[in-house]
Amino acid sequence: MSIEQLARKTVRELTPYQSARRLGGSGDIWLNANESPFANEYNIQCARLNRYSTCQPVELIEAYADYAGVRADQVLTSRGADEGIELLIRTFCEPNKDSILYCPPTYGMYAISAETFDIERKVVPLTADWQLDMPAITANLDGVKLVFACSPNNPTGNLLNRNDLEALLDKTAGKALVVVDEAYIDFCPEATMANLLDQYPNLVILRTLSKAFALAGLRCGFTLANPDVIQLLLKVIAPYPVPVPVTDIAVQALSPAGRAKTKFQVLDLSANRAYLQAGLSMLSGVTVYEGYGNYLLVKFPDADSLFNALWEHGIILRRSPIKNCIRISIGNRDECEKTLAFIRKQLEQN
Ligand SMILES: *Cc1c(COP(=O)(O)O)cnc(C)c1O
Repeated sequence: MSIEQLARKTVRELTPYQSARRLGGSGDIWLNANESPFANEYNIQCARLNRYSTCQPVELIEAYADYAGVRADQVLTSRGADEGIELLIRTFCEPNKDSILYCPPTYGMYAISAETFDIERKVVPLTADWQLDMPAITANLDGVKLVFACSPNNPTGNLLNRNDLEALLDKTAGKALVVVDEAYIDFCPEATMANLLDQYPNLVILRTLSKAFALAGLRCGFTLANPDVIQLLLKVIAPYPVPVPVTDIAVQALSPAGRAKTKFQVLDLSANRAYLQAGLSMLSGVTVYEGYGNYLLVKFPDADSLFNALWEHGIILRRSPIKNCIRISIGNRDECEKTLAFIRKQLEQN
């Protein structure tokens, strides 16, 4: 038997997540992975690396709980929000029996994590204005244990209606968890659902330091939920999931000084987003969608040829599954100016 044949059937048939890194490319301007352009400095202690880390370091949990305005017993930390997604699926879904439900166009990892563990996927597309299709979701809740809802949604950028999310929490009470992915909430903190945790036992919120906190390479995320959900996830998580240096750095990022820096950088990026949005909107045939994260979804007359021209020119953006749309991460002002200038020139030529 070949090594390939030794693998589980599901794995043999799996197409891995096409992350920005995997897609390659070469250039000077990388606006394809919703990374922050800010590279902040941190101190690392290397004195106690002979010892295993604590499973859930108290200082990290308390720092994030304070930042998010929740209690420490409502917080779990993991290797990015992506591990949170996987833990939820492994904890709540029975393979070949239970399902998750998600609403594309949205983040790709819900589907891939479910597929890896042989969990059925119920797919209910967002409405034309990229909101939850409540009647269609309601009609498809049989056997569903987890409903994933991303707000602000990646790649469309819009917020989901709070009323819909609350209606969904009511409808699924006692049957399923509603997982609100708030990876970009730090760019619009007033829209968080975190203040509803006490009210809804089946609410779960995903957070990350990868985006606004400019720590994508750190791999540090959080799951906010009620203590009984957190305790179940802790049964499944690896014994030492958080490397010691990760805690050191994350605690610095969540200190008052770190939080102030993030706030400043969020304002800076929001100004760049407004600049790019205004500049692109003036070009004929271009539609820029209102967005709340550190990225914009933009529709062009011919996105494929524009994307390729940008790619050849060393400006790496992200194709979107939505027809003729490209997702542009918000970089520093120089990167935004160069990208806008190249797109303007390119569209004028055609
Ligand atoms: C980036 C992203 C994540 C993953 O965050 P990590 O903490 O880096 O794993 C999760 N959800 C959405 C919507 C994202 O865009």
